[in-house]
Amino acid sequence: MSCVFCEIVKGNLNSDIIYEDEEILAFKDIEPKAPVHFLVIPKKHIKSVLELSEEDLAVISKIFWNIKDIAQNLGLEKGFRIINNCGDDGGQTVSHIHFHVLGKRKMNWPPG
Ligand code: 5GP
Ligand code: ZN
Repeated sequence: MSCVFCEIVKGNLNSDIIYEDEEILAFKDIEPKAPVHFLVIPKKHIKSVLELSEEDLAVISKIFWNIKDIAQNLGLEKGFRIINNCGDDGGQTVSHIHFHVLGKRKMNWPPG
């Protein structure tokens, strides 16, 4: 089954890339929900948090490490929100694990 984020990783689908290395990719969300809204993904196709295996721990840590750097570069020192939607109840629409980073506006709590 084709995966939209795997197509972005392969370069078959255009995206506004913010950061890329051998293992991870960060790109702007196509339908931003905040003035800053980007997604960070492992290049490896992992469906969701529920499908993580122990060998994936390093890449997930790396994602958070890079979110810190990217957030600083984008001027998000006042804070931001990291969101992972997991599965149907979590509102996940793309079955390739991804972390939303939203910033430059005050976030609501609790989320809807
Ligand atoms: P989810 O609802 O699965 O947590 O988030 C999926 C996100 O991917 C949504 O915010 C949606 O706007 C974004 N998205 C879906 N397709 C594309 C695409 O082709 N390009 C980009 N840049 N973002 C996408
Ligand atoms: Zn994928």
